[in-house]
Amino acid sequence: MILDKFSLKGKVAIVTGSNTGLGQGICKAYVEAGAKVVGVSRRPSTETEEMLGASFHNVIADLSTVNVIPSIVEETVKKFGRVDILVNNAGVIKREDSLEFSEENWDTVLNVNLKTVFFLTQAVAKRFVAQKSGGKIINIASMLSYQGGIRVPSYTASKSAIRGITMTLANEWAKYGINVNGIAPGYMATNNTEALRQDGERSADILARIPAGRWGTPEDLEGAAVFLASSASDYVNGFTLAVDGGWLGR
Ligand code: NAP
Repeated sequence: MILDKFSLKGKVAIVTGSNTGLGQGICKAYVEAGAKVVGVSRRPSTETEEMLGASFHNVIADLSTVNVIPSIVEETVKKFGRVDILVNNAGVIKREDSLEFSEENWDTVLNVNLKTVFFLTQAVAKRFVAQKSGGKIINIASMLSYQGGIRVPSYTASKSAIRGITMTLANEWAKYGINVNGIAPGYMATNNTEALRQDGERSADILARIPAGRWGTPEDLEGAAVFLASSASDYVNGFTLAVDGGWLGR
């Protein structure tokens, strides 16, 4: 039955940035689809934990350094026995004129959004290979994986690179039964876009360009996130799927 292919029953997922926003929505969707979820966050994911109960386990880690990676994988295996899905969702954005853009704002964003993503993905993929199970990796990209943006050079660099390595890793790891894909959210109402939504002029410009006529929500991402984590997407490799209310096609 086709709907069975979307089930995540018996699967174990790691989702980074599980305390809020899109990551919290993905944790909820995965548990609803039958998975056990390890949510990684630097602040406790208390609300997510209350929402999801025993199917959710919180690992506290600051993803600005790669040192935390081995313990994330080890704790997941200790708690739920295996790993089948990784969602690289945690991300930061720094806004500053490019003429003045600081090295700190460059490094902060590139470390969380790209370096840790790559090395966590590598660690989880090694686990998939050791398990001989294959697996699913989903990288949260952005409209700025396709476009330049304004005043966000490090974010655009990181998200363009994420789309690029999604293809590289898919090419290398398809032979192990590992699917690496991305999701490019459009403009979603979360903490990440708080500053934009507070800026009357930018906010009106953005809204006027979205064919769907509204900002997206974490719920809008759930279908794509479950699809790419499930066996319904077994022949989808290296693609970044836009969930953007039509923004990119405009
Ligand atoms: P958000 O509400 O700001 O969530 C970002 C998440 O990343 C939070 O859980 C945050 O934890 C976590 N995080 C940031 N730095 C971290 C670190 N050093 N260690 C551990 N966790 C860290 O924003 P969101 O919109 O849900 O963003 C989720 C992803 O979607 C990001 O990759 C973002 O770039 C991407 N995205 C968002 C939009 C949008 O319109 N909202 C559009 C395109 C792409 P804290 O709460 O502790 O900071």
